[in-house]
Amino acid sequence: MAAHRPVDFEPRGKLLYGEPMCRHTSWRVGGPADLYFAPADLQDLLDFLRFRQQKDWPVTWFGLGSNTLVRDGGIRGIVVATHKSLGEIELRDERTVHAQVGVPCAKIARLTARNGLADAEFFAGIPGTLGGALAMNAGAHGRTTWEVVHDVETVDPGGLIHRRRAVEFEIGYRSVRSPREEWFVSAVLALKAGDPVQSRERIREFLESRARSQPIRIPNAGSVFINPPNDHAARLIETAGLKGVCVGGACVSEKHANFIVNHGTASATDIETLIEQVVGKVKQVHGIVLQPEVRIVGERP
Ligand SMILES: Cc1cc2nc3c(=O)[nH]c(=O)nc-3n(C[C@H](O)[C@H](O)[C@H](O)COP(=O)(O)OP(=O)(O)OC[C@H]3O[C@@H](n4cnc5c(N)ncnc54)[C@H](O)[C@@H]3O)c2cc1C
Repeated sequence: MAAHRPVDFEPRGKLLYGEPMCRHTSWRVGGPADLYFAPADLQDLLDFLRFRQQKDWPVTWFGLGSNTLVRDGGIRGIVVATHKSLGEIELRDERTVHAQVGVPCAKIARLTARNGLADAEFFAGIPGTLGGALAMNAGAHGRTTWEVVHDVETVDPGGLIHRRRAVEFEIGYRSVRSPREEWFVSAVLALKAGDPVQSRERIREFLESRARSQPIRIPNAGSVFINPPNDHAARLIETAGLKGVCVGGACVSEKHANFIVNHGTASATDIETLIEQVVGKVKQVHGIVLQPEVRIVGERP
């Protein structure tokens, strides 16, 4: 599919050609997407998916791009961007909240805390959307996304909506598998009754501990590797002598060894090369092959 060529579909939302993905990733790197679609709302998305089915273009879903490395050659096909598009959130009753996938995790934490619901505080420092959290089973401070999911709504490639219960997915550490090709559009979260003051205090502590231990002011994508069983990727990387090692503008963070930071001039190739170097060195020193947590998408330049 060629970039910059108009398509015969007029959405109510935003449809951009050759959109640089560095504008939409927390690493601030990534080449252009052929088509970048930010639907006006769910119906706009369903109409677009039905239209897309006739064309058979590949689809890449995107939240806030805080766990994704887009290669410098960009993304062929369509990027569906949910942030700012599927942003509805409402309390259903005193224990449940319904949110569309474009809602930022931090907003879920704040809104539920304010309304006396506990157990969603861990979302506060995760700088992604609910959709990304569902896809990754994001977690922090001993809690994970799917522990609080009651059910989800998904959409299939033909634009049909399905309601699915958590048991229909294979949920693991930073991994969620489904036997079907479907994407998330919303979720119902089941929480506990709590105390707004205590929840707000918990959120404050979580954010302070992140600010102390993570390089949150320099572009990054959180933990690059998943922790191997009974160990920590950061410990393995640090003891392999890799803290501060750089490729171009990409460096292993001095503050947290499982973070790779972009000092401003990094390309996606720099970051991917550094990831490969870290894997190689940790294997050489510790005999352990680290697995990336970040999703790497798109074409090499
Ligand atoms: C400073 C920092 C701290 C972080 N701390 C944590 C942490 O404590 N815990 C943690 O788990 N993660 C953490 N992360 C990583 C990241 O924020 C989470 O993985 C987050 O859930 C990703 O959400 P996103 O919207 O940015 O996803 P994206 O990066 O946009 O997408 C991630 C993946 O989800 C898929 N996806 C997105 N939306 C959908 C959808 N609607 N349906 C199906 N698939 C979808 C994408 O295709 C992609 O494969 C951190 C990142 C940063 C930068």
